[in-house]
Amino acid sequence: MFLLNPGPVTLSPRVRESLLGPDLCHREPEFFDLQDAARAGLLAVYDLDPAEWAAVLLTGSGTAAVESMVASVVPADGRLLVLENGVYGERMTAIAECHGIAHETLAGDWLAGPDLDALAARLAGSPAVTHVAVVQHETTTGRLTDLAAIGAVCRAHGVRLLVDGVSSFGGEEIDFGLPIDAVAGTANKCLHGVPGIAFAVVRRAALASAAQRAYYLDLTRLATLQDQRNTPFTPAVQSLYALVEALAELREEGGWRERHARYARYADAAGEGLRRVGVAPLLPAGTSSVVLRSYRLPDSVTYTDLHDGLKDEGFVIYAGQGKLAKSIFRISTMGDLHDADVERLVGALTKTFS
Ligand SMILES: *Cc1c(COP(=O)(O)O)cnc(C)c1O
Repeated sequence: MFLLNPGPVTLSPRVRESLLGPDLCHREPEFFDLQDAARAGLLAVYDLDPAEWAAVLLTGSGTAAVESMVASVVPADGRLLVLENGVYGERMTAIAECHGIAHETLAGDWLAGPDLDALAARLAGSPAVTHVAVVQHETTTGRLTDLAAIGAVCRAHGVRLLVDGVSSFGGEEIDFGLPIDAVAGTANKCLHGVPGIAFAVVRRAALASAAQRAYYLDLTRLATLQDQRNTPFTPAVQSLYALVEALAELREEGGWRERHARYARYADAAGEGLRRVGVAPLLPAGTSSVVLRSYRLPDSVTYTDLHDGLKDEGFVIYAGQGKLAKSIFRISTMGDLHDADVERLVGALTKTFS
């Protein structure tokens, strides 16, 4: 079965086999070697300097990393502006609410992405805002946010960025030269590991002013102890084995650029196959990620029939979410997928819609 949902992804044989590594006590040096390898490997994906950045591991799903980032990096006297263009932006607002963080939102059209003029106007009018939170790849629609443009507006107003990169880290470009304080990610999307480990790549300077609003998700404690080859809690050891193996595989494959190119080839092939049978993409050309794309569900086919038909052919796709739950379907091209599999997918899609 190929998982074309946005995580967890289809594993490669080598990542699956890595799960059978030796039992480890998380208080022994062998575990800390593994932890160090995962942390170094995450920074290496974007060639980041460990003196300036820390990859902080968490045992939990992607949301744990996002929550840890938001609850920790916004200082006690900080104020957060959340850009909402889909359910994951809305989730960051919900997290800010839970932790009592001073915040405001700028909700925008789900299909159009953040409005840069509105952002500039808001930052000019709300001088108390210290941080902007944005989803790089809004998996709700597949829309890729223009981080560079948002970063430029933030820089002009002296505001720092928090990025939900859960469905983009490892598959899309992330320019860490932007005024980014932290990016949240997970092992089981573009990195092709298994669920259980998430992480935040955080600017060390930002940890100095971090707040302690959470206990388990306190990023500063996690970073401090991990830097000392320690860990506060029991980590998902086997997920770390898989992450380290998946990072090695990514490196050998040519890094995020090569993976991006492969995703793009697959996403374009699926989109072209669908176009030929009259199924239109949700978003205008050039605004989708390569990681996942959304398509308008034609009236002639119900989502259930589409899903079940494809599942019979060995492919699990994904429904829409939130207000798009009934009108779209989504296809992700993450995971251990190869050209022949995509050809078969296009064949199955063509059969369904013709
Ligand atoms: C998948 C995802 C998350 C986190 O989801 P989990 O189910 O907690 O792993 C967060 N943000 C985005 C953009 C995602 O795609």
